[in-house]
Amino acid sequence: MIDSQNELAAELLRAIIESSDDAIISKDLNSVITSWNKSAERLFGYTEAEAIGKPITILIPPDRLDEEPQILSRIRSGERVDHFETTRVRKDGKLIDISLTISPVRDRTGRIVGASKIARDITERRKADADLRRANRDLEQFAYSASHDLQEPMRTVNIYSELLTKRYHDKLDGQALEYLGHIRTGAMRMEALIRDLLSFTQITKLDVVPESVDANDILAKVLVDLEETIKDCNARVTTDPLPCVRMHGSHLRQLFQNLIGNALKYCSAERTPVVHISAEIQGGYVVFSVNDNGIGIGPEYHKNIFDLFKRLHTSNEYEGTGLGLAICERIMTQYGGQIWVESEVGTGSTFKFSLPK
Ligand code: ADP
Repeated sequence: MIDSQNELAAELLRAIIESSDDAIISKDLNSVITSWNKSAERLFGYTEAEAIGKPITILIPPDRLDEEPQILSRIRSGERVDHFETTRVRKDGKLIDISLTISPVRDRTGRIVGASKIARDITERRKADADLRRANRDLEQFAYSASHDLQEPMRTVNIYSELLTKRYHDKLDGQALEYLGHIRTGAMRMEALIRDLLSFTQITKLDVVPESVDANDILAKVLVDLEETIKDCNARVTTDPLPCVRMHGSHLRQLFQNLIGNALKYCSAERTPVVHISAEIQGGYVVFSVNDNGIGIGPEYHKNIFDLFKRLHTSNEYEGTGLGLAICERIMTQYGGQIWVESEVGTGSTFKFSLPK
């Protein structure tokens, strides 16, 4: 009875191994191949008869031969090797990228007698990853060059339309001045867009490991920059003591600038704007909050306001480029953090961003 149960289990295991899409191979502690399934034949090009009894090194390219003793020593000590990404060589000499999971095989007494390997072909995935990275880099370079090179002509349009308005004010009729006004508004808007787009593309360019910065110092600088705006809208801005964080000061500054700038911009006409900045430790994260009592945001927009160019208002209602929050989200992604909003229409919003401690 027990024997037939064992036989059934062994048969089932054999069927699973044979039908697996992954190559499943076993070897003894001398690195000699002892079993070989159909997918191993498909992946490496050797038939079962050709592979069994051969050293596993027939699959390892010469420059990676030192991997085998390292793997064997881990197996001997009972360790499992999980998702080890490497390169192997097929019978026809072609190199393939694979992910290996290797576990020790024990006999009835628990002694380690060999190893079983599961090899998955990741050549396509790696190629797709590399293609995606290249496409992203090209796109980024294009956006950077375009925004950088567009700055100069936009500045020229802006400066000369301003000069025309000032110097020829008396010579131009009302309609000409009105048209000039439209040109200047458009040029200034374009300049703001280009400036923000350039900031967006530059976020990933700072890849050196950041030092720790005192968030209180950064916030103080941002509040000086926003002094005029705060005065203009008669806002009350309060802050709690903030911690130090491991982040580039320029990035933290952009975050505060965009979030506090928005808190002041999207204020309610019905009450004095009040903005409060605070931080708390939650688990392994520092969570900063910028709270306002402004117009608020409907729940349907809580996610997509962080998209590039997403705006909920026209430029006539509130000026803006729709890039501020996209910049904030990109910065947070760079640090393995997150940014989100909790908000209610008519009551106000709290933008929060979390950074690993
Ligand atoms: P911009 O302010 O330039 O339009 P952002 O990316 O900074 O672009 O913000 C995207 C949109 O999110 C804004 O157009 C606005 O509708 C909304 N928003 C952002 N911050 C707030 C806030 N504190 N209160 C209400 N709405 C906000």
